[in-house]
Amino acid sequence: VFDVVEMAPDDPILGLNEAFKTDPRKEKVNLSIGVYCTEEGKVPLLKVVEQTEKKLAEAGAPHTYLPISGIPAFTSGVQKLIFGPDSEVVKTKRAATVQSLGGTGALKVGADFLATVLKNPEAVVSAPTWQNHVAIFESAGFKVGSYPYYDKKTGEIDFPAMLECLKGLKKDTVVILHACCHNPTGVDLTQEQWAQVVEVCRDKGLIPFLDIAYQGFGAGLNEDAGSIRQFADSGIPFFVSNSFSKSFSLYGERIGALTVVCKSEEEAKRVNSKLKSVIRANYSNPPAHGAKIVSAVLNDPVLLQQWHEDLKGMRERIKEMRHLLAEALKKEGAKVDFSFIEDQHGMFSFSRLTPEQVQRLKDEFGVYAVKSGRICVASLNKANVAYTAKAIKEVL
Ligand code: PMP
Repeated sequence: VFDVVEMAPDDPILGLNEAFKTDPRKEKVNLSIGVYCTEEGKVPLLKVVEQTEKKLAEAGAPHTYLPISGIPAFTSGVQKLIFGPDSEVVKTKRAATVQSLGGTGALKVGADFLATVLKNPEAVVSAPTWQNHVAIFESAGFKVGSYPYYDKKTGEIDFPAMLECLKGLKKDTVVILHACCHNPTGVDLTQEQWAQVVEVCRDKGLIPFLDIAYQGFGAGLNEDAGSIRQFADSGIPFFVSNSFSKSFSLYGERIGALTVVCKSEEEAKRVNSKLKSVIRANYSNPPAHGAKIVSAVLNDPVLLQQWHEDLKGMRERIKEMRHLLAEALKKEGAKVDFSFIEDQHGMFSFSRLTPEQVQRLKDEFGVYAVKSGRICVASLNKANVAYTAKAIKEVL
């Protein structure tokens, strides 16, 4: 029966990560995978997480099933986090939120749900985007296209082309948008540009699907949710997938949420029931550990403040690394001005290196980046930034 099964291609990014681990070279730098590392090159265990885990262990609660839509204190905490505590959407209860297996799980449940609602499901993603956006929506039965976003020539967003494309889409096309810290480019829309995107989505009857996997890594938890809050103010229905993998450094706990903003509380109740059916037929109910940690933090003012501080520390370290890399390249006498890296947001940068240069970085210097030229600046530290700059200068 399995004679017909062909070898599926490796995930390009996770494959690089595996290759990095087995690379015997002493001097090597992994800028491929999207994981925040500390100055010591380690994935951090946040203080708020450590404290909360201790309390949970002391409480010694049994491992029962969670409700299908997750822990209620978690889902209500998520709503306050993404919309703001005083949001009209929260007060009127017109949003349905379900706990999910990371941001990926939120996208998948959202896509599966939409596929049951739309007759000929179509979606568009930014060019370029996180590749799993395409895979997830295609696997849910969508035809997936793209809208112009990053302009390779200028290193900026081709906003007129993006708007023009959105204006030409059919009603009910799902538009997948990176709410902040665009992956892979690090180039984000301004709040003024977001206002125009909201307007086009409303006028054309498009279905915005905002993916926020890096809330807190751009300018702050509230600032990074600016796009979501503009859509909330517009009154149109939309989706939000959010992830706590990076912001709580809880990668392996698979914790995130899907929120569907509806017209009314009554509509949100119906949507919530349908989301639960999608989950039930997929993995029945979500895992508990990550949700217990996140809900404890989101619902405790002291822990919440501490988390804000933790995020500030991570955000500022990334900014410093952007600065140090640009400076080091200048010092190396690189022919290209890399100061643009300092204007980008979040964990990633499009380095503008070609696939051939990326290959040389790996082969000759043990510096691993994604073929597209994407580098994870959150993996740089004071010990590896000079070596990285030297290697980049050599391949340019
Ligand atoms: N969306 C984007 C844009 C991402 O970059 C990621 C993580 N790489 C995700 C969603 C998924 O996050 P998670 O690991 O929580 O599934």
